Amino acid sequence: MHFFLCKRILGLEKSCYQEILFSSLNKKLLHNKTIGLPANCATLLPSFLTSSLVDCAVVYERSQGYCSRLNPVIMEDAQVTGLPLKVVVDKLNLFAPKSLAESWDNVGLLVEPLRPKVIKKILLTNDLTEEVMEEAIELETNLIISYHPPIFAPLKSVTTKTWKERLIAACLENKIALYSPHTSFDSVKGGVNDWLASAFETTEVTPLVPAVNNYDSYLVEVVLPNTAKGLAAANELQSKWSVVKGELDGETDCQTMPDTGVLKLITRCTSPSVTKLVDILNSTGFGSNEDHIKVMKYEKVAIPGHGMGRLCSLKHKLTVEKVVEKVKTLIKRPYVKLALAVGKDINSAVSTIAICAGSGASLLRGVKADLYLTGEMLHHDILDAAHNGTHVILCNHSDSERGFLEPFSNTLANKLLDGKVQVFVSKKDKDPLITV
Ligand SMILES: [Zn+2]
Repeated sequence: MHFFLCKRILGLEKSCYQEILFSSLNKKLLHNKTIGLPANCATLLPSFLTSSLVDCAVVYERSQGYCSRLNPVIMEDAQVTGLPLKVVVDKLNLFAPKSLAESWDNVGLLVEPLRPKVIKKILLTNDLTEEVMEEAIELETNLIISYHPPIFAPLKSVTTKTWKERLIAACLENKIALYSPHTSFDSVKGGVNDWLASAFETTEVTPLVPAVNNYDSYLVEVVLPNTAKGLAAANELQSKWSVVKGELDGETDCQTMPDTGVLKLITRCTSPSVTKLVDILNSTGFGSNEDHIKVMKYEKVAIPGHGMGRLCSLKHKLTVEKVVEKVKTLIKRPYVKLALAVGKDINSAVSTIAICAGSGASLLRGVKADLYLTGEMLHHDILDAAHNGTHVILCNHSDSERGFLEPFSNTLANKLLDGKVQVFVSKKDKDPLITV
């Protein structure tokens, strides 16, 4: 009888070894295990190994008491090697571009160890506390995605004196990278605020403050005569501009305009590059007068669906009581805080809800809605809202954000990272406040 031995399978209990070929669910970690598989399961091995939590597999054929290595093709398929850090960061930026974050925020890759650069395990957390850091180390995480940025105020040292410094020291010591999306996840369509809005059936969900394309860019158009001298200048410009290409967005386009007898060079660039381009044009002898160069600034335009906060129009009117119930179900918490609008009660009808995950007072102030839903607000802001006829539901700062991580973990693992990286949601991460 033949057996195949897979070494170092991070998969199921040995007693389930046949089932692993048909289901990658119900996984339990088993490091460095050798399991036997009947020969007739061998053809299914490659697809299983690539779709499951296999760190490294070596397949042997056991026959008559000795083992020989079998089929190198299977071995290659068995390598689930994770993804380079840069690829993971690019995918995160693709999901929620850093440009969506608020200008005061500190988002993106915050800690990058020298090694390793390959990410096999990611831990998602709302807040990176020391308890979560222990969990990350135990899981042998290569990357922590902490929604709130653990580095916000600039650090002057990385010692063991404060808990924030210890977090960074622990990341570096354990070769764990740290990425923080914060307000880019709030703003992006399908992000934290849309998750909060998903508690309700809605006809329309729009950002309270739409995100705008804030890329500071210009269109530069250079017009030169279609003569030997003009052509030489155009070539010179194109080659010299390529030197500052790092700051340019997009290729330089050179067009001959047959009817007008001119050459046109068109490029898009950022603000600091404009001066450099004009300087280079001057060096060609054509100068930078308006006969030869036009610089046009791009207008800022709203990006549909992205932005801060959300205003939800409900499909059906709900009582305040029903809204409270739906919020509790979404955030999976037994309690929320409620301030009723002055003169109204728990049975009052709600048809519009303004949402802001986290701390919503500044964004929600003055917004016309029947109810505000946010994590926290100060006493006087709550009084103002209630006297202006708006109910307020508060569900603790991070409880208004944390629940997004669960659906996001699926998006990240399966859609963005193609199942090549394991993604965990922290079990230690929780709001520091409890109701007693
Ligand atoms: Zn927050």
